[in-house]
Amino acid sequence: MRGKVYSALSSFHFFFKKKYANRLRVLAYHTVPDEMAFEKQVIYLKSQYNIISIENLQLHFRKNMPLPKNPLLITFDDGDVTVLKKGLPVLKKHSLSSCLFIITGLINTSKDVWIKRIEAKEMKEGKSYLQARGVVKNFKQISNLERVGRMEEYPEVYKPQLTIEDLKEMSQSGMFIANHTHSHPMLDKCTPEEISEELTQAKEVFDGLQLPGFYVFAYPNGNADEQTTKILKNFRMELVFLFDHKINKKNMDPLNISRIRVDSDTEMTEFKAKVSGAHPFLFHLKK
Ligand SMILES: [Zn+2]
Repeated sequence: MRGKVYSALSSFHFFFKKKYANRLRVLAYHTVPDEMAFEKQVIYLKSQYNIISIENLQLHFRKNMPLPKNPLLITFDDGDVTVLKKGLPVLKKHSLSSCLFIITGLINTSKDVWIKRIEAKEMKEGKSYLQARGVVKNFKQISNLERVGRMEEYPEVYKPQLTIEDLKEMSQSGMFIANHTHSHPMLDKCTPEEISEELTQAKEVFDGLQLPGFYVFAYPNGNADEQTTKILKNFRMELVFLFDHKINKKNMDPLNISRIRVDSDTEMTEFKAKVSGAHPFLFHLKK
């Protein structure tokens, strides 16, 4: 069924590609489990779009430098090691820039993000993946203070994370290292003090690494609200990315850049429907 829907959509993808021509598309990936599947997507993207870097986008907003036709930016959230092991080699092979949003508190550790700790324990206790995701969903809706307290019931999960050396290698290979907070809280459930603390801690890590990416930010889970936006402005953020499954409008706001959600192992008909804008269009119609 799902396959049929996407192949039906893909017959519209030329229409949507044209309808949204020259609007910036930003793809939001998380992991790269399969290098070959990812390369197939990359080859397709290269044939249809002009892949830009964060630096291109900065120059666009700072100096009004025009973006190329059909611009597309590749981003990854959360800093999974597969992005280094399987994603970066493909991007390097095709000489492409990209951007990685890291959770600074996980760098150089063997700890997993809190969401995975909940999933692991709930599934160990017999819940299905979907049920465990339901628990995660509830945790995303409570105050940050309560969530942090309740996390004590969930033991750490062992997972090797990117190291400082990895980040240096990645940034030297055209992957811009950017900011996804220190511990990935839901910022709309945080107090102003908690938000400032998250950003201050992240800034210390970026400063320590001598990387400029603190000022390029993606909201964890895409949770943006007025309070957070105000604080981000006080911290002088330059580019802020959403997770809203949309293609950007012609006149973009650098502090509200839309992104399309994709997976690196999705098969091509589904992938094309998402990137063209056909799927995002229908997705928002349905809501
Ligand atoms: Zn994230």
